[in-house]
Amino acid sequence: MLNSTTYKFYVNGEWKESQTGQTIEIKSPYLHETIGKVQAITKEEVDNAISSAQEAQKQWADIPLQQRASYLYKWAEELVNMQYEIAEIIMKEVGKSFKDAKNEVIRTADFIRYTVEEALHMHGQSMKGDSFPGGSKSKIAIIERVPLGVVLAIPPFNYPVNLAAAKLAPALISGNAVIFKPATQGAISGIKMIEAFHKAGFPKGLINVVTGRGSVIGDYLVEHKGIDMISFTGGTNTGTHLAKKAGMIPLVLELGGKDPAIVREDADLENAVQQIVSGAFSYSGQRCTAIKRILVNENVADEMIGLLKAEIEKLTVGSPAEDNTIVPLIDDSSADFVQSLIDDAIEKGATVVTGNKREQNLIYPTLLDQVTEDMRIAWEEPFGPALPVIRVSSDEEAIHIANASEFGLQASIFTKDINKAFSIANKLETGSVQINGKTERGPDHFPFIGIKGSGMGAQGIHKSIESMTREKVTVLNLTD
Ligand code: NAP
Repeated sequence: MLNSTTYKFYVNGEWKESQTGQTIEIKSPYLHETIGKVQAITKEEVDNAISSAQEAQKQWADIPLQQRASYLYKWAEELVNMQYEIAEIIMKEVGKSFKDAKNEVIRTADFIRYTVEEALHMHGQSMKGDSFPGGSKSKIAIIERVPLGVVLAIPPFNYPVNLAAAKLAPALISGNAVIFKPATQGAISGIKMIEAFHKAGFPKGLINVVTGRGSVIGDYLVEHKGIDMISFTGGTNTGTHLAKKAGMIPLVLELGGKDPAIVREDADLENAVQQIVSGAFSYSGQRCTAIKRILVNENVADEMIGLLKAEIEKLTVGSPAEDNTIVPLIDDSSADFVQSLIDDAIEKGATVVTGNKREQNLIYPTLLDQVTEDMRIAWEEPFGPALPVIRVSSDEEAIHIANASEFGLQASIFTKDINKAFSIANKLETGSVQINGKTERGPDHFPFIGIKGSGMGAQGIHKSIESMTREKVTVLNLTD
């Protein structure tokens, strides 16, 4: 049984219990029982973690890149060795199917390896002075990237291993040390990933895991003078709060979304429906890039809704341990929130095509038709399996509604007319646009960008390395 395990936090290469003796119970969203406890650490323990990161970083930045690379490769190898153990924890802790949880671990090992390879091929630049009027050939600028120092990595619960590594690996390969604050629901998965890191034999202090509620230690971490960069993924409200606290510390924010699927009259409806159902409902829609609204041309709406209904009703519902697609949401209050969006829409005249059934925190996949702009679900992010359909009469109307959102993560366009696809894509206010495919994060080396309420800065392997380093210019003045 897992429920007797109390997990320690990790500082300066050692596993420790908090001096306070206080722990936080982690309950499984589908087993509905405690699967373990994590330490609720104090501000003083946070200070120690940051000091040890600062100390470790200086030497780490000095060692050759090839040596840093070999440690990271070892980490990826240890993750693969522990894939079943880690996947089981992910499944139990965040209620993701075992298959998806195992894929998450493998994807993370791939992510780490690609990050190493990318860094090995990123080189500096040099410039000569005489290309500027009045400049001289004897001035040569050498431009290289240097680490920022200590990176604070805060991921959300939904990909507790992959989204953490998306911060940890680029930070480490480029010579930074890390303070890793996992989402509380996701902390055990994060700790297991760090067990693999520990086995890889890195120098002490490079990653320090601080566990505790974001609402308790979050502000203290974000405002701490020892933090040199913050990489945050989570909700828009938390991200906005954090940005206000961070002051002039470089910040990358990947936040919520309300990704639309725009379906034109000329779309291949079968493909659109397949993509939309997978994009909207996998892991019960608990993904930042889940399709969260359909803007369909009214002339094909009835046909598409018929196809959608048939596909949605094929989705399997139940326990993640049986690899179901629709699984219980992370907690009861998340399910209450999704239900409140569904209820509000029905009250204001939306029709239920399928779903609107609930068992505790398990919400059946729900498709709502005749959704209008006065309904909350037209604008708010459910982070659950509820998908609204808004019927539109033109591309212009679809673009207008798509852009009226406070979010700007991704959008999908379904059409057979490639010229139209590009002309709509050019007008959409999102970080990425998918043509004839679902919205999704990845492949992980593509730039991943949220604008407006969806974030600030960019992730994606190359971009993350850039965001965790800065340019440094050394000018050589030749005298001869
Ligand atoms: P969340 O509630 O915002 O939490 C995210 C992280 O912030 C957690 O580690 C949380 O810790 C921490 N936190 C909370 N308050 C804090 C504070 N005052 N200072 C510092 N950290 C604090 O989000 P979530 O429920 O885990 O994740 C769902 C949201 O993430 C959705 O909106 C989704 O769209 C978004 N998301 C975005 C992306 C993207 O790349 N754009 C990817 C995945 C998810 P605790 O758990 O301890 O509270």
